[in-house]
Amino acid sequence: MNIVCDDPGKRVLLLGNEAFARGAVEAGVQLCSAYPGTPSTEITETLAGVAKESGIYVEWSTNEVVAFEVAAGAAIVGGRALFACKNAGFNVVMDMLMTLPYTGVRGGMVIVVADDPGAWYSSNEQDTRIMGFYAELPVFEPRDQQEAKDMTREAFELSEALELPVIIRSCTRLSHASGDVVLGGIRRERNEPAFDKHWKVPYRWNVYGPPGPVAKHQWQKNKMPSMVEYSDETPFNRLDVAGGNRNVGIITSGMASNYTQEALERLGVENEVHLMVLGMPYPIPPQKVKTLLGSCRSVLCIEEGEPLIERQVHQIANEMGCPVKVVGKLEGNMIPPVDELNPDTVLGAVAEYLGEQVPRTDEPAEGLRSELKELVCARSSSWCPGCPHLGSFWALKKALPADKVNIINTGIGCYEMSGYGIAAVPIDAQDTVGSKRWRASSPYEMTDTLYIMGSETGLSQGQYHVGYRDGKIVSVLGDSSFYHTNMPAIVNAVYNKAEQLILVLDNFWTCMTGHQPNPSTGITATNEEVPVINIEEICRAFGVKFVKSVDPYDLDATEEAMKEALSHKGGPAVIVTRRLCALQRLRELRRAREKAPLFEVNDKCTGCRQCLYLGCPAIGFDKDKTNAVGAKGVAFIDPLQCVGCGLCDQKEVCRFDAHDKVQEGTF
Ligand code: SF4
Ligand code: SF4
Repeated sequence: MNIVCDDPGKRVLLLGNEAFARGAVEAGVQLCSAYPGTPSTEITETLAGVAKESGIYVEWSTNEVVAFEVAAGAAIVGGRALFACKNAGFNVVMDMLMTLPYTGVRGGMVIVVADDPGAWYSSNEQDTRIMGFYAELPVFEPRDQQEAKDMTREAFELSEALELPVIIRSCTRLSHASGDVVLGGIRRERNEPAFDKHWKVPYRWNVYGPPGPVAKHQWQKNKMPSMVEYSDETPFNRLDVAGGNRNVGIITSGMASNYTQEALERLGVENEVHLMVLGMPYPIPPQKVKTLLGSCRSVLCIEEGEPLIERQVHQIANEMGCPVKVVGKLEGNMIPPVDELNPDTVLGAVAEYLGEQVPRTDEPAEGLRSELKELVCARSSSWCPGCPHLGSFWALKKALPADKVNIINTGIGCYEMSGYGIAAVPIDAQDTVGSKRWRASSPYEMTDTLYIMGSETGLSQGQYHVGYRDGKIVSVLGDSSFYHTNMPAIVNAVYNKAEQLILVLDNFWTCMTGHQPNPSTGITATNEEVPVINIEEICRAFGVKFVKSVDPYDLDATEEAMKEALSHKGGPAVIVTRRLCALQRLRELRRAREKAPLFEVNDKCTGCRQCLYLGCPAIGFDKDKTNAVGAKGVAFIDPLQCVGCGLCDQKEVCRFDAHDKVQEGTF
C-alpha cells in the first residue's frame, strides 16, 4: 500500500509505525527528522520512502537532539514537523525538550516516542508520558493502529492551536504490530515558512531575551487550562457508564485498554463496570474523571509504565474530597510496577479487583506453549555469519594482555552482543573488593560495561583518571555511535589526556536498527549521494595522535594494530576496523547475481574446537564423528549459513589448515 495514496475511506492494513507516518502525511507534514531506534525506526523509513514524490523533507540525523532541533527549527518558522525516536533516545533530547516549550512553536510539531515496556529492545523501560508531564506538554497514547494514525493527524492541529509541541507515546506492541486503518483525506496546503522576529511576544524565540525565561515559562503555564479543556472535550478520552450496581470503575489507556476490555469480556462483566479509556493520559480530563468518581466506590487504574494516570486521579479525588478508593500501582498493589503488561496479568488484576474467578486457561493454548518450549532452543543473540565484528573481537581478545584485568566499555549497536554471553554470577560482598580476572573464551563474553549509546569513551576516561591500572581500558563503538555522542567524549579524552584504546567498528551502516544510512555510508535517508565523513580524519583533527584503520577480516594485522595502540601513551589511541556489514555485502552480491564463497571443514580437523571460539553461528561441532587424530568430535560448517568470509580459514583461528574453499567468490 502506498502510504501517500489519496483514497479516503479505504481500509488498509498498516504496521503501527506506518500508521503514525500515514497520520503525518494526512496532516500535511513538511519535515521529518529522527535517529533510528527500535521500535520507532519504521516511522521515518516509511516517510523516507515517499519523501521525493510527496515533497516531504526526511532525514536521519546524527543523534536525537540534533533531529529534535531540526524539527523545532522547522516548526519555529511555521512548518509542520515530525520528530520520532525510541524511549531511551528521548533522554538525549531533554535539554531542548525542557526549553522549547517556553517559546512554543508556530507550525505543528509532533513528537512520536516508541516506548519499550519489558525492555525487549532497550536498556530500560522508561515511560515517555512522564516526560510530557515534566515538560508540561500534552500526551496522546493510541490503543491501536487506527488511533495511531488519527491521533498523529489530530496532534498537528492541537500543536498549532496551543503553539506547543505535542507528544504521542507508542510502545513495542503497537509500533510493531499491524492493524486495520481507515484512511482519511490528505491536507494539501503547506504552511509557508516565515519568520517574524518579534512575533506576538518581543524576543519570543530567544529564551533569555526580555521578558526572560520566567515570564516565558508563565506563558507556557497559561496554556494548561486550554490543554485540560481539550482533554475533557476530545472523543479520544471516552467514558462508558455501565448499568448494574457494582459501582466500580476502571481507568486505562493505550495498549493496556485492549487487555482491560478483553479481561472484562472474558469475565462477562463488560456491562457492569464503568470504563474510562484515555487516549490522552496527560493531562487527564478532570470533568470526565469527576463524573466517574462520583458514581463509584472504587476505581482501578491500569496503565503501562509509571502510575501517571493514577497520580492524577488521586489528585482529582483529593480536590473533590471524594472518599472513592483509587487502586493500581501506587495503592492496592494490583498492577505490577515493572515489566510489560499482557492480557493474562490484566485479567488476573481485574478478576481480583472485582472478586471474580479467573476463567480456566484453555488447554490447547497451554499445550501449544509447552510444545513450542521444547522446539525452541534457548540461546542468546549472536552476530551474523561472517560479521566483521567477529574478527574485531577475536583480534581484541588476542591483543589484550591475558594476565591483566582489562575493562571493555561498550555502547549500543551490534557490537553490544560482545556482552550477551556472560553467565550471571551471584556477587557477594567480597567480590566487590579488588580486581578479579575472568578470561573471556568467546567474543560474546568480552564486554564489561554497557549502558547507553555514547557512554563508552566517557566511562573509560573516568576509569583511567581515577587510577585504574590493573589492566587495559578499551572503548568499543560503532560508526553511527561515533557520530552520535562519542565525538565530544573523544575531544575530552584528548583534552584531558585519558589513555585508552578506542575501537571504532565501522561497517558503513546503522545496522542494529535495520541498516539506516549515517555519515559513514555515503547516502542520505532519501538515497541522495553525499561525501563520506571520514572517522580517522575527524579523530586526527581532534588531536588524537595514534589513528589507524585495519580490515577486521585480516586477523593478524588487526591484532598487531591493536597491540600497538594499547601501548600508546599520553592520550587515546583510535583503531578503526572497517569492513562492510556482512548482510549488506550479501545484498550487494545478490544484486550483482554473484554467489558468496563457501568453506567446508576437511579431514584435517583435529576437533580442537578453537574455531568455535570465533563465534560464527555457521560453525558447529559434531561430537560423534571421528576426527583426524582418531578421537571423537569434529567441527562442521553449515553451508546454508556460511558466507565465505574466510575468518575461520586463517591460521590464527585454525592452525591445522582444516578448511577448504568449495565455492569461489569474493566476500
Ligand atoms: S576446524 Fe580447525 S580449529 Fe576447528 S575444530 Fe577443527 S581443527 Fe580445530
Ligand atoms: S567462512 Fe567460516 S567464519 Fe566465515 S561465515 Fe563461513 S563458517 Fe563463518
